[in-house]
Amino acid sequence: MCRHLAYLGPPVSLRELLFDPPYSLVRQSWAPRDMRGGGTINADGFGVGWYPGDGEPVRYRRAQPIWSDPTIAQLAGVTSAGAVLAAVRSATVGMAVLDSAAAPFAEGRWLFSHNGAVRGWPDSLVPLAAALPVRDLITLDAATDSALLWALVRHRLRSGIKPNRAVAETVVSVTRTAPGSRLNLLLTDGHTVVASVVGHALSIRTTPASVLLASEPHDDDPGWQEVPDGHLVEATAAGVRVRALTEA
Ligand code: GLN
Repeated sequence: MCRHLAYLGPPVSLRELLFDPPYSLVRQSWAPRDMRGGGTINADGFGVGWYPGDGEPVRYRRAQPIWSDPTIAQLAGVTSAGAVLAAVRSATVGMAVLDSAAAPFAEGRWLFSHNGAVRGWPDSLVPLAAALPVRDLITLDAATDSALLWALVRHRLRSGIKPNRAVAETVVSVTRTAPGSRLNLLLTDGHTVVASVVGHALSIRTTPASVLLASEPHDDDPGWQEVPDGHLVEATAAGVRVRALTEA
């Protein structure tokens, strides 16, 4: 299953964040320590989104393993940012392997990622998809559960629903119509990160000025804390709030 991370805090280089740690996201693409729900490596693509300033993020996605792309290694060496969302992908059986199927999905300031799988996709999501504008359905990034989940979250954001509610409502409604789905979502606008933990692991490490959320701790620092299943995280560089999804 995919692995993802989000960082907010003082600018760090993408190399420091994605390549250098002993169990970095790049290493997790070929040697993850905690794979659940099938899959052994995360070689079906990757994506990185970062905020170069106060504006919209820049995104780089490819359908190949992150370790085999020389461009991301070069970019990472010369790029620093104070807000980053990155993911490596293990495609769920039957789902497209394309650049556009790799997270992060994006619109405006938003970046989004999904680690997991929707049980019974696509049929189980028909009742929820039917409530979306047709335009959203025919412009999905890819024929994957993750792209459709992003359309569901994005529809709520466009309607003015707050990001924590947009994520919580989407997770609750998908769990109702497709029970047993694994729904670790990550959403950021570069200032706040919202993350759901349903069916996969997520750990958090904070410093006084930063927060890092990751599917797996990327080093042996004792400061990593695992978020319990069924919870929603709202994080800024200044603090973290964790609540049961049912209370969010
Ligand atoms: N189901 C999603 C996909 O295939 C996410 C996969 C994952 O978490 N491994 O893209």
